[in-house]
Amino acid sequence: EAVVNRIAAGEIIHRPANAIKEMLENSLDAESTNIKVTVKDGGLKLLQIQDNGRGIDKEDLPILCERFTTSKIRNYDDLQSVSTFGFRGEALASISHVAHVAILTKRDGDSAGWKTAYSDGKQTQECSPAAGNKGTTITAHDLFFNVPLRRRALKNANEEYTKIVDVVTRYAVHYPSVSFVCKKVNANVPDISTLSKSSTPMNIKALFGPQVAKELLRFETEDTLLNYKCNGYATSTNYASKRTIMLIFINHRLVDCPSLKKSIENAYSALLPKGSHPFVYLSLEIPPSNLDVNVHPTKSQVHFIDEDDIIEHITDALSNKLSTCNT
Ligand code: ADP
Ligand code: MG
Repeated sequence: EAVVNRIAAGEIIHRPANAIKEMLENSLDAESTNIKVTVKDGGLKLLQIQDNGRGIDKEDLPILCERFTTSKIRNYDDLQSVSTFGFRGEALASISHVAHVAILTKRDGDSAGWKTAYSDGKQTQECSPAAGNKGTTITAHDLFFNVPLRRRALKNANEEYTKIVDVVTRYAVHYPSVSFVCKKVNANVPDISTLSKSSTPMNIKALFGPQVAKELLRFETEDTLLNYKCNGYATSTNYASKRTIMLIFINHRLVDCPSLKKSIENAYSALLPKGSHPFVYLSLEIPPSNLDVNVHPTKSQVHFIDEDDIIEHITDALSNKLSTCNT
């Protein structure tokens, strides 16, 4: 059974960056305004996320890393309408099958916090009282220690760290009201450090540089029949980079949407010199019941109802914006 669970876990957690995405989403679901990620050896030795969110109820701790343990669904109908990131209760369970997990959590109003640990989905250490501030710190030690093949495949710690920084960067652009820090364990200077109460353009400037920030155009589009709202920032045709940078959020979840990406790239390629590319950040909101996030175990590839029509609308809106601002 342990082996089956480990294989299932590997479908969700391929690399440290997947784990950090799941953990970030949990911290954001818990309404954190400060999130700090600490990494050792590309996350393979240590991957830690500390937040100031609402914390975890002590009663929930013993089964927290069992599959399908979620505080986000109460009944089957909720499945259709969940708007939070998580809803399957599989992320922490998966991480605990491929790493040693330690948790420290404190809820507002509780006199003390609690700490405990997990392996293979099960609690390995009784809850004991611990000092701490409101919020949750989750630490994954020795990721893939029990999956030697995977471990060997991820031998480049720098590459893994770059992926982690990339995920945190993208969330920082989408959540400018939350402060994010991302650092290597012994580094004095963090690689990412954003302020809370910032703005998306300010964070784009801080994280992607002033060149990009200078050329940003804000665009917005919505349609009541197709039932979507979209807004974002994209670079004007004055800006061109060597590669496309695209940050796509659907219902506040960082996703991979190749069809949307392709459509936007095509719109730009009609306007930019050959071989040059845009920077685009966009946030799309649709009814949660129109979104199918189950197509891929890592939940990053999504499909939604009226996908082609909505993509066409968004691309048209962006193209119009680009051509009216063209100088
Ligand atoms: P899901 O997000 O699908 O519910 P997870 O396995 O990601 O499942 O998390 C399981 C549960 O653990 C969550 O439903 C939530 O109650 C709790 N949890 C995890 N991380 C945090 C956190 N940082 N702050 C508060 N609660 C958390
Ligand atoms: Mg989750």
